[in-house]
Amino acid sequence: TSTMESCTLKDCLKIIIDTFHQYSGQGGDPDALNKKEMKQLLTKEMPHFIKNSKDLQCVPHLFQELDTNQDHDINFKEYAVMIARLAMASHEKMHENAPDKDHHSHGPGLEGK
Ligand SMILES: [Zn+2]
Repeated sequence: TSTMESCTLKDCLKIIIDTFHQYSGQGGDPDALNKKEMKQLLTKEMPHFIKNSKDLQCVPHLFQELDTNQDHDINFKEYAVMIARLAMASHEKMHENAPDKDHHSHGPGLEGK
């Protein structure tokens, strides 16, 4: 969308932070995502990632993996790790889908374009 195209890295960082708080503030600890908030964040903000109920079944596993201090909440640090991992996975995908393998080029990433 045009919003993403006009988004500088600075704006993107703000979006990453604001998105966390938009969902973390819904209940429980306002500075952490519980399972329900995490599921909502992924479903609404990463619709390409969570396409069907099978993907949704992976959320508890993903949650457990990201919850490195095992307090059953995703704090901002754990969320930031998830964003970094998604960026790396998406970049990898762009290279897998690259139209010109001999030169640095990108095809579609995880976000699908
Ligand atoms: Zn690249």
